[in-house]
Amino acid sequence: MKIVFLGPNGSGKGTQGAIIKEKYKIPHIETGVIFRENISQGTALGKEAKGYIDKGELVPDSITTPMILDRLSKDDCKESWLLDGFPRNISQAKELYEALCKQGITLDVVIEIVLDMHTAKNRTMGRRLCVNDNNHPNNIYIDSIKPNDNNCRVCGGQLKIRSDDQDEIAITQRHAIYYDTEKGTMAVVNFFKKLCAEKGSPKIIELDGTKDVGEVSRELISKLNEQ
Ligand code: AMP
Repeated sequence: MKIVFLGPNGSGKGTQGAIIKEKYKIPHIETGVIFRENISQGTALGKEAKGYIDKGELVPDSITTPMILDRLSKDDCKESWLLDGFPRNISQAKELYEALCKQGITLDVVIEIVLDMHTAKNRTMGRRLCVNDNNHPNNIYIDSIKPNDNNCRVCGGQLKIRSDDQDEIAITQRHAIYYDTEKGTMAVVNFFKKLCAEKGSPKIIELDGTKDVGEVSRELISKLNEQ
């Protein structure tokens, strides 16, 4: 199954993505993670991306789109993939869709986690990253995934904080891009909804992000099983 996962920063996309990855054994491709890995390895891509990421701006499409299309062309992505953090604007969505159409690949499902900006901001600031595994969810503001004595609740590993998650200006900037219905990620949501209405695919799965992590994942899995 080929899936695009959309939701504002702090909506639980990463947490739910990790659950899907585990359950269906499909590659979980996270744009932000690819950039952060490049930054920590000091690559040319990482150096270029860092300036944009620190400000909460999008890394230019000319860098991001080919990087993701190249990742999707790898052998492990032949059967299925879960794309998380891409597309984030309407140009990326159109380029992705055109590239898939050219290759005869159907985008099966678009998942949208709906969450208001205020809640999303608090959750973004409460997020903690496990140094051992980026897919271990920890958040000081969400009871069901609260860290254990300041350590990862899954493996006990050390937790770190993303600097762009504590910078209110950067968070506001990231959310402004998400909630922009003209060119931003909400325009992407509407683009895929229109395709669904006109062509029958991708199917759209809409989830209420204010619900508990377990409730959201149960609903998500049951809806994915219907596909
Ligand atoms: P995330 O981990 O998804 O919050 O992404 C962190 C940062 O990486 C974003 O604030 C952007 O600067 C950059 N980034 C992630 N995905 C994209 C994308 N699809 N297009 C451009 N920049 C992106």
